[in-house]
Amino acid sequence: MLNVGNYKIKFHFPHLRNNLLLLQTELRKGDRMIQKFPSVLLENAVCELARLPGIGRKTALRLALNMLKRSQDEVSSLGEAIVNLRNHVSYCRICHNICDEEICNICNDPNRDAALLCVVENIKEVMAIENTGQFHGLYHVLGGIISPMEGIGPNDLQISSLIRRVQSGDVSEIILALSTTMEGDTTNFYIYRKLTGLNVKVSVIARGVSIGDEIEYADEITLGRSILNRTNFDDSFKI
Ligand code: ZN
Repeated sequence: MLNVGNYKIKFHFPHLRNNLLLLQTELRKGDRMIQKFPSVLLENAVCELARLPGIGRKTALRLALNMLKRSQDEVSSLGEAIVNLRNHVSYCRICHNICDEEICNICNDPNRDAALLCVVENIKEVMAIENTGQFHGLYHVLGGIISPMEGIGPNDLQISSLIRRVQSGDVSEIILALSTTMEGDTTNFYIYRKLTGLNVKVSVIARGVSIGDEIEYADEITLGRSILNRTNFDDSFKI
């Protein structure tokens, strides 16, 4: 016998009873999701925090309550850092890496090899490759990869500025270090075609099983090796 609201249900089939018990558990979970907040200010903070990637409402509530334990100065510094980041951060005029000045530290470094250009999807990949300590050239951050499913085309990315950098004649090799996904392959091929006729070598980072789909998750040694063991892009699609 199972109590459902005002009804008492007798089950002859145990699996039906189990399904209904599961449904009841889910409904109770749903009730808990509609939390009653004792303060509108708390509720607003939780709602805003829960909009961040990877932050559910439970975590948002924990973070919001933690803010109340901190001093007003600490919370003000946190808020200020976030607002300043959003309002004042800029992107390098040359490579589109994130920076505080017009040109980033990497592009400004005279010890870097300006003839070697590593093409990456986002700033996270620049950070991952820099952590390997194995690459001493410059970067070009595309700002994403071609993805028809998400409506991202070549014109939404920093591809024309890449071509201009190569046309300037300072670059002798382009290393494509994009995700090993269909979108990454499409973008690699698009760039390769765009570079046809220009006097530049195009290579692609070595791809092993352990490198995974996203280069930001590859460990530093694997990622460092994949750059050092890069192959000619021509060879990567020849059978
Ligand atoms: Zn730069």
